[in-house]
Order: sequence, then C-alpha cells, then structure tokens
Amino acid sequence: MYALDSMGIVKLIILAMVIFLGFSLFKKFRKPASHTDQQPSTNKMVACSVCKTHIPENEAIIHNGKVYCSKEHME
Ligand SMILES: [Zn+2]
Repeated sequence: MYALDSMGIVKLIILAMVIFLGFSLFKKFRKPASHTDQQPSTNKMVACSVCKTHIPENEAIIHNGKVYCSKEHME
C-alpha cells in the first residue's frame, strides 16, 4: 500500500493550489460585476477641506490627499 508516494502528495498539493487560484480568480472577476450592479457607494459624500461643504466624491477635486469643492478652494 504505497499508492500515495511523495510524488502523489506533491501532485495533490499542486492540484489544490490550482483549484484555489482558479477559485480566487473567479471571485476576483465576479466582484466588479456585482459591484456595478448594486452601486452602493457611488455618491459617497466628502467634505471640502476649506469650507466643509459636503459634495459627492465624483464631483470633488482631490489634490495632495485633500478634498476641495471647487478649484478656487484648491489654492
Ligand atoms: Zn470649498
């Protein structure tokens, strides 16, 4: 009873890794699709660091890690 020798175990480990990698790649490719379907945080509100006005993140101007509501406040 030496069917599972060291080579057999190595093959099993490689097979397990391939399945694991394939599964994580599958999850990775599925995630953006479901994310765009739900759109949970598209209109995330951020505060201007000058006037503290809350504006949607996609309209905000982000410069040097700070948030601005307009180009005037960026200076
Ligand atoms: Zn502002």
